[in-house]
Amino acid sequence: MPELPEVETTRRGLAPHLEGVIVRAVLQRRDDLRWPIPDQIRAHLPGARIEAVRRRAKYLLLDTLAGSALLHLGMSGSLRVLPAATPVKAHDHVDLALDGGRVLRFNDPRRFGSLLWQAPGTTHPLLQGLGPEPLSEEFDGAWLFARSRGRSAPVKSFLMDQRIVVGVGNIYAAESLFRARIHPLRAAGRVSRERYEALAMAVKDILAHAIQRGGTTLRDFISPDGVPGYFEQELWVYGRGGLPCKRCAAALKQAQVGQRTTVWCPHCQR
Ligand SMILES: [Zn+2]
Repeated sequence: MPELPEVETTRRGLAPHLEGVIVRAVLQRRDDLRWPIPDQIRAHLPGARIEAVRRRAKYLLLDTLAGSALLHLGMSGSLRVLPAATPVKAHDHVDLALDGGRVLRFNDPRRFGSLLWQAPGTTHPLLQGLGPEPLSEEFDGAWLFARSRGRSAPVKSFLMDQRIVVGVGNIYAAESLFRARIHPLRAAGRVSRERYEALAMAVKDILAHAIQRGGTTLRDFISPDGVPGYFEQELWVYGRGGLPCKRCAAALKQAQVGQRTTVWCPHCQR
């Protein structure tokens, strides 16, 4: 599933090819993805110029003066800028035909992705009530400490709550907690301010590093190739239940936390 770094990497790869470009037509090969594609997409996008490509949480926004197209990659979605004549493959559900003989093509085998519309000056309901971006200044140890007081939920669930901070998925929560040496099952309200400062720093460092690594795969973004996997060889705990801790060699523990598999080191994390 694309996580925040992949979405940000996608945004950075697409922006130079989309910003300032006029959408000429919308070619839909089906009416719905996860949700129906609203009529406003076909009504407002043709003729509109893409002013900016932004990201909020794991949504990409193509901003035009008429409103914003809101894209989510779901479990398996991908976006490519291709020559318009590129043959359509299975699961190529939507094309935005662009000036200059190119298309922005949305492919999504599992169709958990979405293409929605946000009217100018409004915030789409899916973007309301979200916490700060993890790489913003607003997100820091003081924020986590203040929001966590009195909470008995495991700190890992707290960190993955989109109302607290957006875009910290299972991989990044597990890795950040390991780096900050915090046990994922510890009650969020029983983590000190000092330890939340270490945790916020770990989240920022790990996400920024993942974005940087993802960015290096984007030199040939205008190609039908998928974004290669990265980062796996650098994981300390995620997906390593039962294996020795890379720091202390203790066997890593694994359990379900909030229906997500989580892994931690019983020696390094308290
Ligand atoms: Zn350890």
